Amino acid sequence: MIRTRFAPSPTGSVHIGNMRAAIFNWLYARHTGGEFLLRVEDTDRERSTREAIDTLLKAMDWLGLSADEKPLYQSTRMEAHLAAAEELLASGHAYKEDKGGLGQGDCVLFKMPEKDMVFEDEIKGKLKKKAADTQDFVIVRSDGTPVFHLANVLDDIEQGITHVIRGDDHIENTYRHIALYKALGAAVPKFAHLPMIINAQGKPYSKRDGDAFVGDFKEKGFLDETLFNYLALLGWSPGDDREVMTRDEMIAAFDLSSCKSSPAQVDLRKLQWMNGEYIRAMKPEAFAEIAEGEVSDLGKNLALCGLLQSRVKLPSEIGPAADFFFNDDYEYNAKAVKKKLLKDGVFQTLEKIAERFQTLGNFDEPTVDKALHDFVEENGVGFGAVMPPVRIAVSGQQSGPDLAPVLAILGKEKVLSRIAKTIQKFG
Ligand code: GLU
Repeated sequence: MIRTRFAPSPTGSVHIGNMRAAIFNWLYARHTGGEFLLRVEDTDRERSTREAIDTLLKAMDWLGLSADEKPLYQSTRMEAHLAAAEELLASGHAYKEDKGGLGQGDCVLFKMPEKDMVFEDEIKGKLKKKAADTQDFVIVRSDGTPVFHLANVLDDIEQGITHVIRGDDHIENTYRHIALYKALGAAVPKFAHLPMIINAQGKPYSKRDGDAFVGDFKEKGFLDETLFNYLALLGWSPGDDREVMTRDEMIAAFDLSSCKSSPAQVDLRKLQWMNGEYIRAMKPEAFAEIAEGEVSDLGKNLALCGLLQSRVKLPSEIGPAADFFFNDDYEYNAKAVKKKLLKDGVFQTLEKIAERFQTLGNFDEPTVDKALHDFVEENGVGFGAVMPPVRIAVSGQQSGPDLAPVLAILGKEKVLSRIAKTIQKFG
């Protein structure tokens, strides 16, 4: 049975790179019918506060990264770690040394084998290191606390991990870890190192490049499905051109053999695009709830919600996009006015179309749409001579959602009074 794990060190915020590792481990376990475990590497007492751990658990919960067993807290395993260090001392794989020579007590060092090392990474292929390039390393500090390498390996053994899937910043550690497994007489798991996540300049993606923590994206209104899907594509692709995929589709298609070894570039514009796709796929009621959270009472206007749902990429765009529907004091975009309104014949056209609208008994979308088309045909003018002035008159903007539904949602009365107001103001 394949068993994978996510082994974060809680620090208070969860970097997307860490979450990407969690997602890959989760997908691989689900794809293979294996198990996905969580280990909290909480030995740094100052950073691993209860709050930091809660932030981590919440982020996993939000993204639906369910674990198949209770989390293992590394801090509870110190005795086992130290006992293993004693064993390594007894078997001659480790030795004591007063490191700084300062008489502060001995630390325990692990003796690296004097042999060239090679292992087959599931993603990167064969990775090698010369014996001369390896060094003995500390496994227990002089204050008696176990070091990451020892704890990490022992806990992976304890949890029965068969596949260690983690960032490629750990490759150097992996040589040490493999040597530790062997010295401990334990089976060496398979390793899969995920490519680095980089910014546009090819440097490791960080907070300076924009949002980098799971919480930031959640706060901005990115959907859990979006972030999961987007992060899954940072170093993996299903092998065809699919990008927006359901979770089940990702589980079915995921494999370590289709993971990439070259760096994965973050593209926040693409992430936004994807969020728009997921917003459009939402149930209208779910979107109405989000809309209501942005503008009170907006959730009740289902027609307007539908229009907005077809356009926005983030909830924060809802308020500005909906503003002119509610606010009669909308601002006129000066450029649009100059380009499209202040031209010969435009105000006559506006007067004429207003007359036409006036005659309509019903002002629903199909009726308005037909009236616009008929008007264009009968007057032998182009849509370009009618639609933009009407749009600017009722919204102040040159672009926006389809005009007919906009007019229908505003209603006849508002449309007529706004056209009249615009003619008065600029005509
Ligand atoms: N706590 C380590 C980290 O967050 C563990 C890495 C690992 O083995 O997955 O980088």
